Amino acid sequence: MTRKFAGQNIIIASHNSGKILEFEELFTNSNYRITSASKLGFPEPVEDGNSFKENAEIKAKASAVLGEHPAISDDSGLVVPLINGEPGIHSARWALNDSGDKNFNLAIEKIKNKIMALGEAPSGQDAYFVCALAMCWPDGYMKTVEGYAYGSLTFPPNGNKGFGYDPIFIPNGHSLTYGQIEPVKKHQISHRADAFRQLLAACFEKNWWQH
Ligand code: IMP
Repeated sequence: MTRKFAGQNIIIASHNSGKILEFEELFTNSNYRITSASKLGFPEPVEDGNSFKENAEIKAKASAVLGEHPAISDDSGLVVPLINGEPGIHSARWALNDSGDKNFNLAIEKIKNKIMALGEAPSGQDAYFVCALAMCWPDGYMKTVEGYAYGSLTFPPNGNKGFGYDPIFIPNGHSLTYGQIEPVKKHQISHRADAFRQLLAACFEKNWWQH
C-alpha cells in the first residue's frame, strides 16, 4: 500500500519554468497550495543519476528535505533505440551550444546525423518519450512512476506548437508531430500524462484531473 498525500502543500521540485507551468496546470483544480524549488530559492541539485527515475528522485528528495513538504519532480527525454537509446537522460544536454544556451535544432541535427552514420534513413525510425515522476516526503518516503509515449521520427522538423524534440516526433496512431498537435491534445496522450495518471492513482485519494 503506497502512502497517500494528506497535506495541503506540494513543492514542484524544478527550476524549469516550462515544467513548473505544466505542473501548475495539472494541479489547477486540486485546491492544493503549489510552490516550486525555484520560487523557494533552493539550489539545483546535481542530476548524476543513471536513469530518468534516479534523476527524478534526486530532485524530489532535495526539495522535500529542504522544504519540509512533499515534493514532486519530473525527469524526461527522448529515446531512440537505434542509436543506443540516445539522447535519453541527456536530452536536455544535447541541445546546449558552446555558449551554454539551448538550441534544439542542434540536438535534432545530431540525432539525424547519428542515424545516417549507421547507413539508415532517419525518418520512420522508432522512438519514444519517457517521463519519470517522483514524489518524495520529507522523511524520505518516495514513490516513482514512469510514463511512455511511443512513436516514430520524422525529418525535417515540423510544427511549432511544442518544445524540445516535439517537431520530429509522430506519436503512434497519429499523422502529425507533437509540434503540430494542439497542446491540449498532446497533454492527453503524452508520456507526462501517462506518468501523471499513475502518480495520481498511487499517491492521491481524490482525482481532480480527468483526462
Ligand atoms: P530534463 O529537464 O533533464 O528532464 O530534460 C528534459 C528534456 O527532454 C527537455 O529539455 C526536452 O529536451 C526533452 N523533452 C522532455 N519531454 C519532452 C516533450 O514532451 N517534448 C519535447 N521534448 C521533451
